[in-house]
Amino acid sequence: MSQRRALITGGAGFLGSHLADALLSEGWNVVVVDNLLTGRPANLAHLSREPRFEFIEKDICQPFDVGKVEYVFHFASPASPEDYHAHGIETLQVGSIGTFHALEIARKYGAKYLVSSTSECYGDPLEHPQKETYWGHVNPVGPRSVYDEAKRFTEAATVAYRRYHNVDVRIARIFNTYGPRMQIRDGRVVPNFMRQALTGRDLTVYGNGNQTRSFCYVSDEIEGFLRLAKSDEHMPVNIGNPNEFTILECAQVVLKITESKSRIRHEPLPQDDPRQRRPDITKARELLGWEPKIDLETGLRLSLDYFKNAVAAESAVR
Ligand code: UDP
Repeated sequence: MSQRRALITGGAGFLGSHLADALLSEGWNVVVVDNLLTGRPANLAHLSREPRFEFIEKDICQPFDVGKVEYVFHFASPASPEDYHAHGIETLQVGSIGTFHALEIARKYGAKYLVSSTSECYGDPLEHPQKETYWGHVNPVGPRSVYDEAKRFTEAATVAYRRYHNVDVRIARIFNTYGPRMQIRDGRVVPNFMRQALTGRDLTVYGNGNQTRSFCYVSDEIEGFLRLAKSDEHMPVNIGNPNEFTILECAQVVLKITESKSRIRHEPLPQDDPRQRRPDITKARELLGWEPKIDLETGLRLSLDYFKNAVAAESAVR
């Protein structure tokens, strides 16, 4: 058995915990550091008896050291609009101070490094679909700026550690990802619609619902991370599903797979809500031989049991 050891910051979150599973099944020893601000111990509960797994509850904005690691996966950050609005300062801090701490660990141990960045770097894009070379259209002082600018800073710090300290870095730009372990009350569109459809409530479509997103199922996303982690590409790579849906279409797919009689109710569009998002994944296809395999309807069906259980657990405690 390999003794390779990987650190995942934010590994109690939705994506980080799936990454922990994937690394463990590839033979890694995994240490997760998370302050549980938005991450959840339940996402890691199935690993409590796994000897190659270790969880440390800690805020990475404080200096920390977990000993020698060969890989740093820097995933710590609130990620849903509701979470980063509720924790705006913490979001800026983890993107800046936390990122320096994660990069310093990679530098100290000569570890490889991969950071989860985001399509938010493109803001409300004027170029469509978005290529990695597009610099974005971001409001630096709007309500989303605590996340967008934190992640843009994260990318700047990451490439600076490559340029100045020769740290072996990678940057994944994630587009809307969904699947089991999403928190059903994190306010994102998939958990909101699934919870509403499964409890017979109206589906809340913000604005006219013609804004678009491109949804990637979690197993495809994780496969993209693993391939990028093994590559030698140091500049950002879009890891997302290019199949684009309007939010109204997304609502229709949720109603179909849940067989729900819920109706659609329109609510105001949040400020600076991006009008369209679709990754150009030519770079990931050519460099990593990666592309997503699971379409939205299939991915939502794969997630259905999780959301049903989460909704049932929530109603049981009320
Ligand atoms: N949205 C919606 N209803 C909801 C939650 C979200 O219509 O209950 C819309 C939101 O306005 C945005 C899209 O769905 O246009 C995706 O929102 P989400 O919060 O999932 O992520 P974002 O891509 O905006 O970060």
